[in-house]
This record gives sequence, C-alpha cells and structure tokens, in this order.
Amino acid sequence: MSLETEFEQVTMPLEFPFTITRGTQTTAENVIVRIEDEDGTAGIGGAAPSSHYGETAATVEAVLPDLLAVVEDVGDPHQLERIERRLRETIERNPAARCAVSIALHDLVTKRLDVPLYRYWGLDPTETVESSYTIGIDDTERMREKTETALERGFGTLKVKLGTDRDLEIIEAIRDVAPDVRLYVDANEAWTPREAVSRIEALAEYDLEFVEQPVAATNPEGLRYVYERAALPIAADESCLTAADVPQIAERCDVANLKLMKCGSLREARRIVHAARAHGLQVMCGCMTESNASIAAACHLAPLLDYADLDGSLLLADDPYDGVSMPGGRINLEGLERPGTGVVRS
Ligand SMILES: [Mg+2]
Repeated sequence: MSLETEFEQVTMPLEFPFTITRGTQTTAENVIVRIEDEDGTAGIGGAAPSSHYGETAATVEAVLPDLLAVVEDVGDPHQLERIERRLRETIERNPAARCAVSIALHDLVTKRLDVPLYRYWGLDPTETVESSYTIGIDDTERMREKTETALERGFGTLKVKLGTDRDLEIIEAIRDVAPDVRLYVDANEAWTPREAVSRIEALAEYDLEFVEQPVAATNPEGLRYVYERAALPIAADESCLTAADVPQIAERCDVANLKLMKCGSLREARRIVHAARAHGLQVMCGCMTESNASIAAACHLAPLLDYADLDGSLLLADDPYDGVSMPGGRINLEGLERPGTGVVRS
C-alpha cells in the first residue's frame, strides 16, 4: 500500500478575544494534515499547538515532514499501534503534531471501513455527555453578557475561567443570570495552595461541579494540599498530560482532564481514560482553540467521558471544517451520517 501526505497551516480568527490567566488570544493557528490512500480516500487531522506546552504552528510544521515520512514508510494506515510508537520514537515531544497524524490516520482507517470512529471503537453513540461552553476572563459585566449569549444559544453547561482578583464577583454575576446552568470553573494554575482552599470554600456557595487546576502543575504537593482540604471536587488539566501522569494525580484530584493536543494521539487518549478509571478518577476531555479537523475526533470519545469541554470550534468566528454537530453543547454522535471522524470542509 502507498500513502500520500500533505499539510497546511490555517489561521482562524476567534469570535471573541479569549483570555485566561496566562494571556489573551484572538486567533487560532492550526495545522491540518491530510493522508490519502491509493484509492483516493483521505483522512484529515488537525494540530492545535499550545505555547504553554512548547508548541507553535512553526514547530508543528518543522516536525511534520519527519512524522509523515514514518506514515509513508509503514504504508499501511491500519498499523496504528506501530505507526504511533514510531512517531513517538521519531519526535518525543510535539504532541499536537503527532496528534494531527494520529487523527488523520484514524479518520482514514474508519473511512476505509465505512464506519464512524465511535463504531470502530465499539462505543454507544447515545451515551454522550454535554459539552460545556467556556466563558473567558473579561470585565465582569462582559462575562455576564457572554453568559446570557451562551444561554440564548442553548448551552446548559458552562465553564468559567477564573484566576483574577474578583473571582467571587464574577461567579456571583454569572449565577445571577444563569441560576440553573451546570457550572464549573478553571483557575489555570493561578492560585497558591492556601489561597485555593479559601477561594474554593467561598465558591462552594455557588453550586459548582468542580474546580479545574487550582494550582501550578509544577507543585504536585500543592495540588494534594488543595485536594485534601477543598470544599469542591478538583480536576487536573495542566497536571495531566499523558497516561503516565495518571498514577501521580490519582491522590491529588477527582477528575482527570485529558486533551488530544497534550497526549499526542487518540490511542493515548483512550489509555488515559482507562488508566484514570483504574485509579477511580472521573474523566473529562477538554481542548485548545481547535477546528473540527481535530474536535470531530475528540467527540467520538464522548461515550467514555463524565465531562466534555469540546467547544474549540465553537469559539472560532468561522471554522473551515464541519464535524460532529453540537447544538447547545449536545454532542450528536447518533446523528452523524458520515464515516470516519465526520470531518468535512465546510
Ligand atoms: Mg483547563
């Protein structure tokens, strides 16, 4: 068998500037990989690099030729385990770059078999969770308005970015306009351990599901300190990159938040799910600001999850790709009428 590969960078403006404690983003730079077999069937995957993990569109483009050379050398897209192992041996870091290749291969393989990815995995498309929609940091009044807009668009689950000097004011304003919505918050490592415990005690008044990454990932004992004292469940995001991190975080949090762009492949994402379950953790899948070239694939993990935060494409002003429909955050795998991940150019 022979495979042809190509990639291109796409720059996508966001609908609104997106701010977390580490900074503001107005565009998403993704790199799209295409792998075509000799019958002309093509798989598509996306890399959404995060500078927090040392990747940019430029680093993705720099390593893709070596990664795609592995794919062409193996030649058989169904050899997913072998290809992914060789991708890791070729480029140890750069998980977003490796993930774009993994997604494109999974899309190709399942298109060749003419089944949606969830069906290839044997998952139940009726068992999906609802994705949250993220409210980035802004002035409090603007965050309240964004919440109202999200409610008008039918979202029933919201994630709110915190880590400001007015975190309680923000949650009070949001609860004021959204008293019944399912709500969780993400501090993106902003608090010290002691600060986290007292903030979480105050936040617990507002009926939150959990608090994501209260303290720095570089402070695992701080995360344990918070977990043992916190008034709300704790999710680990920056502290949970690959399946190898799961034993470490197992006694420091309640929820493992995996992301394709941190773990580097769809097979590794499933290993994280299973490792987390084995350690008694709940599982969430989050995302970067990503097009449906990668979000569509993440949607197929939904039947394995307790929480999904897969709004990456929804935060874009205009996504050049369609994927799995997500009206009001409801991941509609059952309604997907295309094989593969469901990705198509919009
Ligand atoms: Mg997070």
